[in-house]
Amino acid sequence: MQRNEVFHRDFKPAPYWWEAFQPIAGDLNDVPVRTRVAIVGGGYAGLSTALELAANGLDSVVLEAAELGFGASTRNGGAVSGGVNIGKSFSGKSLDPRSDRARVLLSDGADAFSLIERLINREGIQCHWKKTGRFVGAWTPAHYASQARRVDLLNDAAQSQAYMVPRERQREEMASDYYYGGMVIERAANLHPALYYKGLLNACRARDVPVCARAPVTGIRERDGGWEVETSRGSLQAREVVIATNGYTGDITPDLKRRVVPIASHIIATEELSPDLAATLIPKHRTLADTRRVLCYYRMSPDGRRMIFGGRARFTPATPAQIAPILHRFMTDRFPQLRGVKVTHCWTGNVAFTLDALPHMGRQANGMHYLLGCNGSGVAMMTYLGWQTARKLAGKSNQPSAFDAGEFPDHPLYSGKPWFLPAIGGWYRMRDALDRGLAAFQR
Ligand SMILES: Cc1cc2nc3c(=O)[nH]c(=O)nc-3n(C[C@H](O)[C@H](O)[C@H](O)COP(=O)(O)OP(=O)(O)OC[C@H]3O[C@@H](n4cnc5c(N)ncnc54)[C@H](O)[C@@H]3O)c2cc1C
Repeated sequence: MQRNEVFHRDFKPAPYWWEAFQPIAGDLNDVPVRTRVAIVGGGYAGLSTALELAANGLDSVVLEAAELGFGASTRNGGAVSGGVNIGKSFSGKSLDPRSDRARVLLSDGADAFSLIERLINREGIQCHWKKTGRFVGAWTPAHYASQARRVDLLNDAAQSQAYMVPRERQREEMASDYYYGGMVIERAANLHPALYYKGLLNACRARDVPVCARAPVTGIRERDGGWEVETSRGSLQAREVVIATNGYTGDITPDLKRRVVPIASHIIATEELSPDLAATLIPKHRTLADTRRVLCYYRMSPDGRRMIFGGRARFTPATPAQIAPILHRFMTDRFPQLRGVKVTHCWTGNVAFTLDALPHMGRQANGMHYLLGCNGSGVAMMTYLGWQTARKLAGKSNQPSAFDAGEFPDHPLYSGKPWFLPAIGGWYRMRDALDRGLAAFQR
């Protein structure tokens, strides 16, 4: 298929999810002059914090730089797991899976999954929540063996209900022989990310939480034992400040900016497929991902008609017009039967990686709270860390999060501008290709 033939005539360089809910400014809430807790960033993390603060009788204000839902929270793939990827570092170092710390973190990740399910049910959020599991395809036989060694840990520590599927049975999971088998995680779900966001927003509004769009925070300074938070639409006084800016963390918090590495991730949505083709691609409606260093992740749309396919098309800034043909090729590598299918949507969002591949919440030396670093799996996790942050502020965290501990690492050569990404990304791609080539050769 020629490059240009990939694009549907109605192609939009915007998230498919925005067809159901587009980020809005709405009637601009005035920025109040005073609040107990000022929350910077209006994604899942910020809204979840505000919601739980309200449940505990503490008032807060959410300050969002752009439209409500502008960040990753309406752009993601909508795959929800209980943190099964925890500690798998993009810098190649992973948390020792045999360590006690790994078990505790995985167990906390499992709590994140329980929490998001409870929250969706409690608030009646209509976001196509489906507990249909995940399949992670093994890129090489060695990856398959490594996955198999993790099954017991995931089941013990995170109740993942994980098991291995050998290559001969892979077609039960996907209409392709692309992988060397893989791992199923039954305790995983998918949802419509923008409708989940909309549900959280409505829940905040129902509790009269001011959620202020187009109110970028331009400065934060200590004042009278609290904080003065300056926005482009006025200042407010707050007793506490919570930073929930994840992959969009900027210069107002330089100490945090140099602890998160924003990496763009890209997604395409295809045109509607014929019902027969659509029904066969991922028969159990799971979300899929793979064990490559530069991984791809994909699923069917909630109505089961389109393929939603994500990955890292490039490690340098790129337009949807450049990204879509690359992701289309990745998709048809896996599903050759989609070769003639066109792309209707293509979009990008920022994922916040951390140097130890772990999400972090905590309090800086100056007293400011933060929750940052989803490492690509933040739908449940950032919701959960928001809940935990709120409970901590309310003095209710009798079970503090395992992510609220330990050092939040930085690096002397990194100040917030990820200059090294093209080199590291290229290196990982090359190693992926090499591993795969060797695997084919060895068989
Ligand atoms: C393409 C893509 C695919 C993904 N797929 C998945 C997936 O399938 N499953 C999964 O679990 N996770 C996935 N993720 C990760 C997930 O989307 C995020 O972890 C989650 O949305 C983070 O929520 P958040 O509230 O922390 O950040 P965001 O939703 O990014 O919100 C942060 C907000 O902070 C605002 N902000 C920044 N600076 C300021 C300021 N100075 N003043 C006011 N506001 C400010 C930004 O405008 C932004 O809206 C994906 C992410 C991307 C980008």
